[in-house]
Amino acid sequence: MEDNVIYMDNAATTPLRKQVLEAMLPYFTEKFANPSGIYRKAAECRQDVARARELLADSIHTAAENIYFTAGGSESDNWAIKAAAEAYGSQGRHIITTKIEHHAVLHTCGYLEKQGFEVTYLDVDENGLVDVGQLEAAIRPDTILISVMFANNEIGTIEPVEKIGQIARKHGVLFHTDAVQAYTQVPIDVEEMNIDMMSVSGHKIYGPKGIGFLYIRKGVKIRSFLHGGAQERHRRAGTENVAGIIGLARAAQLALLDREERTARECKIRDHIIERIEREIPFAILNGDRTKRLPGNVNFSFQYIEGESMLILLDGRGICASSGSACTSGSLDPSHVLLAIGLAHETAHGSLRITLGMHNTMEEADYLVDNLKEIVARLRDMSPLYADMVKKVS
Ligand SMILES: *Cc1c(COP(=O)(O)O)cnc(C)c1O
Repeated sequence: MEDNVIYMDNAATTPLRKQVLEAMLPYFTEKFANPSGIYRKAAECRQDVARARELLADSIHTAAENIYFTAGGSESDNWAIKAAAEAYGSQGRHIITTKIEHHAVLHTCGYLEKQGFEVTYLDVDENGLVDVGQLEAAIRPDTILISVMFANNEIGTIEPVEKIGQIARKHGVLFHTDAVQAYTQVPIDVEEMNIDMMSVSGHKIYGPKGIGFLYIRKGVKIRSFLHGGAQERHRRAGTENVAGIIGLARAAQLALLDREERTARECKIRDHIIERIEREIPFAILNGDRTKRLPGNVNFSFQYIEGESMLILLDGRGICASSGSACTSGSLDPSHVLLAIGLAHETAHGSLRITLGMHNTMEEADYLVDNLKEIVARLRDMSPLYADMVKKVS
């Protein structure tokens, strides 16, 4: 990156790739036409949007008609869950999700509970994995929707999506997955995985903010999200965010082209950080599954420390990281994900999330751990809890 900042918060957002910006720029200037127009200038834009839709559809092995552009991950999650509830509410009013979903899913489910729906929030194990047996046992005759995220944004755990898809299909229940963190990091085939709806966001894959898509399998009854014009097959009105759509498709194309190489590199740096922290920093607990884990995710709880102070000191040394998720900072409650995997409140408060991206290097990883070691030691020196604990063990 241009400035001297070491950016390690790629689960919060990623920087736009240069080629993505270049692909988008003409759509702010000469290619400004509304794709619905009847002149050639509009037809060109319409064709460009159609090509982008095809590329994105190919990337998850579906047809272009099943891709609906949205304003990002939160809108896709809201749409999938609310519209499925509305369209299938007469068949049943029970929804199954998990305790570790993104707030875009959890708060939407909370809203539906107020509308008279019943929601089961599945527990996860200490690594954040959903138990598929428990999931199947939770299915009732009135269950209309299962929403389980593909991979968690805080602890990086990758859920058994293929198995969940099989179970959902077997019981005739719709399956939605929030794949905002997984898309272009792990291979996704919505046919093979029996996924009926899937949320994706542009700005998590080196694309622009404010654009994403919802995949909806053909045949799924789903109400329109925005009423108005005929865009998105009458289901999501509004003049297309053409520049955003072009940027999203270009970002996806590039991310899929270099996926293997890029994620292998991230895994190597990730594992180096994990190994060094476990070897060099005492009382550090790795959160999330060791193997079923997103390539760039490192999440540790440092006991006897307060996460926010760690972040401020890291920022002072030019490192951007996060404790819990960006949406929850600013609140005093520890992350719902860390509580769901069984951490005590104090332990959850001392957690740090490092999420690597394509720009991070091994040198940065070492700089991070070197600084983290000092910062953790310094904060523990000031911690009465730590002093008590040391007295007890010695
Ligand atoms: C970032 C994120 C979202 C929200 O996406 P936006 O495009 O920012 O609305 C939803 N789910 C997960 C898992 C995320 O990481």
